[in-house]
Amino acid sequence: MVFIVGARSKKHYMLHAIIPHSAARNFPLLTVAGLLAVWNPKVEFMPQQELDELQLKLLKTMVYRLYNFSSFYKERMNAANVTPDDIHTLADVTKLPFMTKKDLREYYPDRLFTVPRREIVRYHASSGTTGKPTIVAYTRSDIEMWSESLARALSSIGLGPDDVVQVANTYGLFTGGLGFHYAAEKIGAAVVPASTGNTERQIQMIQDLGVTAMAATPSYMMYLGEVAEKMGVSIKDTTLKYGLLGAEPWSDKMRDRIQEWLGVTGINCFGASELAGPLWSECDHQCGIHIWRDICLLEIIDPETGEQVGPGERGEMVLTMLQKEAFPIVRYRMGDITTMETEKCACGRTHPRISRITGRVDDMLIIRGINVFPSQVEYCLHTNPEVGNEFQILVDRKGYMDEMMVKVELKPEAFTDNILELNALRERISSRLKSSLNVGAKVELVAPGTLPRFEGKAKRVVDRREI
Ligand SMILES: [Zn+2]
Repeated sequence: MVFIVGARSKKHYMLHAIIPHSAARNFPLLTVAGLLAVWNPKVEFMPQQELDELQLKLLKTMVYRLYNFSSFYKERMNAANVTPDDIHTLADVTKLPFMTKKDLREYYPDRLFTVPRREIVRYHASSGTTGKPTIVAYTRSDIEMWSESLARALSSIGLGPDDVVQVANTYGLFTGGLGFHYAAEKIGAAVVPASTGNTERQIQMIQDLGVTAMAATPSYMMYLGEVAEKMGVSIKDTTLKYGLLGAEPWSDKMRDRIQEWLGVTGINCFGASELAGPLWSECDHQCGIHIWRDICLLEIIDPETGEQVGPGERGEMVLTMLQKEAFPIVRYRMGDITTMETEKCACGRTHPRISRITGRVDDMLIIRGINVFPSQVEYCLHTNPEVGNEFQILVDRKGYMDEMMVKVELKPEAFTDNILELNALRERISSRLKSSLNVGAKVELVAPGTLPRFEGKAKRVVDRREI
């Protein structure tokens, strides 16, 4: 395998950091114009077997430390009848109990911390939209791990010392601002710590400083485009080429819009304050977010049974952070629905990828024992060009059987009074839904503008079953 380094920057800048020179020299390094730099090739391209060994070693060390130095974890593990001696393989991670947001709230503010106060160098907090916020603490090495993880991610897009990264995420208790700030500085980029707001000045900075990448929420990126238009500025004509986007749900449709309208490649980023902050992103192939195995053990589970599901199968993301010191996170149920891809990425990186987050466990329906997510229905419907933006799922129970009906609004140009044509379309949508959801659904096609509209969050599901 050949590792390509330093094309954009014309510098072998990966050599100065994490990998000692001796280790880096084990790799044949080439500089070829047009190919991207790699921040930490030793880890990012590590063969699976070595990654297995490394991950197991980190897991064992962490479990040993938590069992012996944290009363919370010791009690939890004892209750689950597991000790550090029971962890022999990576599959043994399933012996460990899950953690949820409820634990984090219950042990607020600091009872889950596992280092003395003097080792903590920073605090952040989650937004706390429901109930108390979660306070997150970091040791110096936690901050290092966090910025290392995101530095790899930013390099995998092609960012480096020649870039100017404007951080338009909030600085402060929210982790978005400082997370991107540290990582961008680490890869040698120049950082513009703009934070949120003052959009006209943000646009001015992009123009005056030659900003090439901007970290923001997808909705802010759209807003920036609108303000720019009002100012008579075309973002397409500026130096801005990458949007490092996350911190709120967004769709491929929105990405397409951002890419076409603004000429900005929309890179999907992921993280959460409980885990550290923004940690991962897609590489330049834009085919899923790489989750570094030396930093995090990723599982996807069936949210009902708690059992792991296979690659490509949809389920709830469960994360174990392997290197955190101040605030460990073990088998934390994120509540986010995604799939895991374990095949090697086209970029050559060997770490698994998660697909775009398509929903929350809270939205999940169980129809005849099968988990169905409204986002899955939406995705499937939109593979049919005749389908408009609105749909509604109605669930009933007839006798002991669940029945699902999907009402689908058609686009004006697709709506016709030709019954044969409508029937054929209904059949096509119905069979696509069945093969995507593994459960049958009746489909009713309705005229444009006939389904209820909602201000704010749409109410897509009407569940009329009596529990
Ligand atoms: Zn990749």
